[in-house]
Amino acid sequence: MKRTARDIRTANRYEVLRHCIGRGAVSRQELAAATGLSAATVATLVGELLDLGILTTGGFQDSAGGRPRGLVEVDTGRGALVGVDVAETYVHAELFDLALRVVGRADRELSPGSPGRYRPEAVADVVADAVTEVLGPYPGRVLGVGVCMPGIVDRRDGVSVYAPNWDWREVPLRALLAERVELPLYVDNPLRACTVAELWFGAGRGRDDVVVVNLGTGVGAGLALGGTLHRGVSDSAGEWGHTTLVLDGRPCHCGNRGCVEAYVGAPGIMRTLRELDPASPLLHPDDQTATIDALARAAAAGDPRALDVLRVTAHYLGAAVADLVNLLNPEVVVLSSWVAGKLGDPFLAEVRRAVGRRALAGPLAATEIVLTPIPTDPVSLGAATFALEGALASGGSRIRT
Ligand SMILES: [Zn+2]
Repeated sequence: MKRTARDIRTANRYEVLRHCIGRGAVSRQELAAATGLSAATVATLVGELLDLGILTTGGFQDSAGGRPRGLVEVDTGRGALVGVDVAETYVHAELFDLALRVVGRADRELSPGSPGRYRPEAVADVVADAVTEVLGPYPGRVLGVGVCMPGIVDRRDGVSVYAPNWDWREVPLRALLAERVELPLYVDNPLRACTVAELWFGAGRGRDDVVVVNLGTGVGAGLALGGTLHRGVSDSAGEWGHTTLVLDGRPCHCGNRGCVEAYVGAPGIMRTLRELDPASPLLHPDDQTATIDALARAAAAGDPRALDVLRVTAHYLGAAVADLVNLLNPEVVVLSSWVAGKLGDPFLAEVRRAVGRRALAGPLAATEIVLTPIPTDPVSLGAATFALEGALASGGSRIRT
């Protein structure tokens, strides 16, 4: 991957801002020590962020015997960002201050039962409506709106290239939204949103090689390589959920057989439970969330059947994560999304054991496997982060007041 001088400057700008967001008021000297950048580079970048109105000066700090050091901090009152998580059944919009703290939210259902509910125009209406509500009382400037949409998304052109669950192909989502929302718009997908959220605010902070394993109804792996989000040549990198885990195994909705997702996505875990115990009271045949909740509760109470399901699922997931560890040699593998969140620490322990049985000793020793530490919706957080990155990369022409 060839990085231009501009890419490096942008990456350094992100890095300085990430430290400011994490630490509160901080001196330029502390930023240089924390980022490894030279004092001169930090001074320039801080100057730019001050000019852009993202940072502000924040008092002084004594320095043993020397001149007091000026502090800078994020100017949280001077702007906001919106992140929107568009999922199969809901639209969730959050308003963030410039330190990426949630200051407002709005939720919409994608009205179940209404026949045209997944028409692109209908979804754009619902997103615009949620954005309008969340911005309702906000009087200040809004730097941008990030919108994450499942499936393959061409973020440069703002097009939903393929959304299998809704049968969308080549839908110009950003253009549809631009007719409804007059703010800078950034469109991407949830896998990459979760990864950028980990890089800025989660287990990926300060790390270059990060894999974010998303375990939900669908399954995927967000990749950051060399400190940069890896998108692939046509924006589809990370479709690890549809790599083959079991030759000629369970059918997958992608049309193939034996995919990782068919074993460790929520419907795959339900199938494992059904295979082990068709009459299990833990099984809620039409409700993934209720089944995963029941499994998590039963496993925490020591129920042997629930623990079996966790072990079998971890056995499959461990093999697939070991492939990622051997292939990419990451510093950290982060388990994210709702299934990982609900199954929690007992599942993490099983996954670690299973990866340990499969991965090569060298890369395994260098890799940490953790649950995401992000307590809020990582998709809307990541979507807002894309908007912040967009505002920073555009040189701030949209930011100055
Ligand atoms: Zn598949």
